[in-house]
Amino acid sequence: MSKLTITMRITLDTAVHTTGNLRRPGVDKAMARAPNGTLALPATTLKGFLREKAEILLRAWGHRVCVGPEPKRLCKGPELCLVCRVFGSPRRPSPLHFSDGHLITEETNPSVRAGVAISRHRRAAFPQRLFFVETTTLSSTQWHARCEGYFPSPNAAEEAAALIALAARWGIAIGGGRTRGLGWIRQIEVEARVDDQLISEVRMRALWQAWQEGKHVAED
Ligand SMILES: [Zn+2]
Repeated sequence: MSKLTITMRITLDTAVHTTGNLRRPGVDKAMARAPNGTLALPATTLKGFLREKAEILLRAWGHRVCVGPEPKRLCKGPELCLVCRVFGSPRRPSPLHFSDGHLITEETNPSVRAGVAISRHRRAAFPQRLFFVETTTLSSTQWHARCEGYFPSPNAAEEAAALIALAARWGIAIGGGRTRGLGWIRQIEVEARVDDQLISEVRMRALWQAWQEGKHVAED
C-alpha cells in the first residue's frame, strides 16, 4: 500500500460562508466551527468542491465520469471511473480522509450579512425572505487543510494527487453564497507526498496532459 498525504493552503479573496450545525441568535445560517469554537472549512465542503471541479473538467476532456452527488448516479462497479476511484462511490468508499480546514489568518468575531432570497425562476425577490448569514470578517483569509489515505500502488496514489491538484487549480469559489460574491478563491497551493516523497510538478503535468488528450490511465 502507498500512503498519500496532501496539504492545501487556500487563499480566499472575499469573505466566506460554510453552513454549520450550530444555531446562533439572530443568524439564519451560522458558520461551521471546530470543536474549540474557531471557524472551520468543513471537510465535506472541501471534498464536495474538489469532486465537482474534477467531474466537470474530466467530462470536458471527453472522459466518462460520474456526476455526483446523488449516490444512485455513481459507479456501481466493478470498474470505477477516475472520479469515484479518488472520491468514492457507494461500492467503494474514498481511500482519502479529508479533515476540516482551519484558519491560518487571524479571525476575531465573524460578521453577519443580510441577504434576500431571489427566485432564479421568476428573477424576483420572494416576499419576506430576508435572511442573515454569518461570514468571516476579514475580506481575505488563508486556510490550511489536509487529506490522506492508502492506495493500492504508488501510481494510484499519484493519480489521486494529480486529480486533486488539478481540481484545486481550477476552482473559482467555495462555500455558500457564491452568487453573492462570497468565497472567491485566489489560490489553492497543493503539496502531495506518496510515502513521504514529494510528487513533482512535472509528474503532475504529465498526468494532466494524458487526461487532456482523453487517455485513460489504467487502474493498477
Ligand atoms: Zn464513477
